Amino acid sequence: MPLHQDDPVRLLTGVGPKRAALYDKLGVHTIGDLLLYVPRGYLDFSSPLPIAQSHTGENVVIRAKVYKKQGEQRIRKGLSIFRVYATDESTDLKITIYNTKYLFESLKEGTWYLFYGKVTGSLLHSEMSAPQVFPEQAAGAMIPVYSLTEGLSNRQVTENVKEALRVWGDCLSDALPHRLRQDYGLCQLRFALENVHFPADSHALSVARRRLIFEELLVLQLGMAMLKNRNRAETSVQLKRTELAAFLSKLPFKLTNGQMQAIYDCIQDMQKAVPMNRLVQGDVGSGKTMVAAALCYLCKENGLQAAVMAPTQILAEQHYETFSRQLSPFDIQCCLLNGAKNAKQRAAAAASIQSGECTVVIGTHALLQEDIRFKKLGLVVTDEQHRFGVGQRAALAAKGDHPHILVMSATPIPRTLALLIYGDLDVSVIRELPAGRKPVRTMAIGSDKRLRALGFIKKQIDAGRQAYIVCPLIEENESELVSAQAYVKKLEKTPLSQCSSAILHGRMKAKEKEALMRAFRDGEISLLIATTVVEVGVDVPNATVMMIENAERFGLSQLHQLRGRVGRGVYDSYCILVSDHKGEENRRRLHTMVTMQNGFDVAQEDLKLRGPGDFFGKRQHGLPELRIADLLSDMKTLETARTAANRLLSEDPQLAFPEHHALEKKVRRLFLQNGQVVFN
Ligand code: ADP
Ligand code: MG
Repeated sequence: MPLHQDDPVRLLTGVGPKRAALYDKLGVHTIGDLLLYVPRGYLDFSSPLPIAQSHTGENVVIRAKVYKKQGEQRIRKGLSIFRVYATDESTDLKITIYNTKYLFESLKEGTWYLFYGKVTGSLLHSEMSAPQVFPEQAAGAMIPVYSLTEGLSNRQVTENVKEALRVWGDCLSDALPHRLRQDYGLCQLRFALENVHFPADSHALSVARRRLIFEELLVLQLGMAMLKNRNRAETSVQLKRTELAAFLSKLPFKLTNGQMQAIYDCIQDMQKAVPMNRLVQGDVGSGKTMVAAALCYLCKENGLQAAVMAPTQILAEQHYETFSRQLSPFDIQCCLLNGAKNAKQRAAAAASIQSGECTVVIGTHALLQEDIRFKKLGLVVTDEQHRFGVGQRAALAAKGDHPHILVMSATPIPRTLALLIYGDLDVSVIRELPAGRKPVRTMAIGSDKRLRALGFIKKQIDAGRQAYIVCPLIEENESELVSAQAYVKKLEKTPLSQCSSAILHGRMKAKEKEALMRAFRDGEISLLIATTVVEVGVDVPNATVMMIENAERFGLSQLHQLRGRVGRGVYDSYCILVSDHKGEENRRRLHTMVTMQNGFDVAQEDLKLRGPGDFFGKRQHGLPELRIADLLSDMKTLETARTAANRLLSEDPQLAFPEHHALEKKVRRLFLQNGQVVFN
């Protein structure tokens, strides 16, 4: 019976239920998965070392002939050792094998092998323990090294992959249509699979990898593009009136070019027959809220409602105040929906939303609840998008008839990656900060200067300003770590002891946190000592100092977000990074913060230092996991795949042609893997 790529690995000769369970752990369920389980590296057997030169302390490859075998020695229950003596004809090597009897028995006296392991002992008595053993024919080849799990050996995976290629190789069907392979110079699937596991040479390996990476990124891009097209159903909430002059005239400031451009991008989208689906990305403090407010104003002018969703109560409340202030001159009613409302207030709010009396509804995910129904929802805004799942955004949109969607985010991501991550969105970027915004003066100090820094903070507070001090953890689990509670104790002996201060941390109840933030915003508290919960979006223009303890514990982008909490008003602002960590990478990070103000530059640097995996972390929302490709290092292929995807879809938007069938299936699979349903 011919095997199929979707058949479970269990059907392969040599894979029983036990091994299949181990494969499960590695995410390898089907034979197709196994074939795409590419090695994490290769052993290069092209130049084995003479034994005499191999005492390097590293794993090395030795070519040697077995000349004597010494039978099993039982050391104790469960531990047997076998000894093998080998020579490269100038130096001898004593090899010890533990427990693996079959390996010992397979070795033949008088035969040459390749041994991979560490060589120890003296030159006269060289030894190797528990080596990996390969036939001599492997010399010159590259041997795959797989990521493993306890109970599964490299050798077993290698054998299973070989078997899969053997039984299945002939009926491999290539998902990439012939023409596409030709256009982009890509090798056939079979060649790619054979050479990614067992490369003929390094050139063949790179040809193979390129093809597999291309395919993976193409499938990803196809999926993202199809998602985007799916959102292109007709809408009944097109904007007809787009005159903004009255709104602009009531603003206390002139909008920046970036803000205006973002607004115009949105207006253009919102006049079309298909709903807007746009990301406005702008550094912290770039004034994204006003973009949303302008569009809410236009909603009212067009007889539509708008919903604004924020990730925390305090942010929702802050938005509510901003929107109410800016929109009240136009008789636009705003309403705040949060957990704090009692049943009666809630019912009243729900009624005014349903009747259409209330135009702009602002809230947390309380907005998503079923009893909240709109009369005519025209615009859905989600702030700090990375805090929400793609699903929540969709749930809010489902409360209207294909409303326009605006997503706002301060997470700065290089454009190519933004296109990928937000591939289902158009992007407007606000590059500048409002005029007159002074850069936040940033300095990095050692803890020996802390006292002076605290004295400086005291002066700021005496002058009527406020300050944040951020500590990475709340309890002193690790001795050297400055935690918030211990910190407050220390402050008792410093100039800051007289200031009104409070601690804000992640273990507090949401209500307590809110109350504290409110008190800080209202100026009742001068000094907020916090863990990173202050990270998101709070706007307190009177705060002028952000001091960050153990700055080495934070990622660059996180430091930048934290710094963005100050420098929001007319006062000079300061960011003080405290760190005694002397490592080169930390030095570079702190230097980046001291010299760079722009979030996009900082993000680029962050990517360079950390690599995309860490950079995205949990923010990777919605993006399926990639097996082979790496978003950052394969950026060029990513672009090519994007072009190819768009070309393909322009001819066959649903991938319905027979030659695209296999691709379409892959797209579905990739996105389903991620627990998202998606197409059609
Ligand atoms: P973010 O993009 O981080 O959400 P906000 O919308 O919270 O930024 O704006 C930050 C601060 O800048 C707010 O106090 C806001 O009133 C102010 N602001 C916004 N736009 C302008 C502008 N064009 N000129 C001056 N101040 C502005
Ligand atoms: Mg904001």
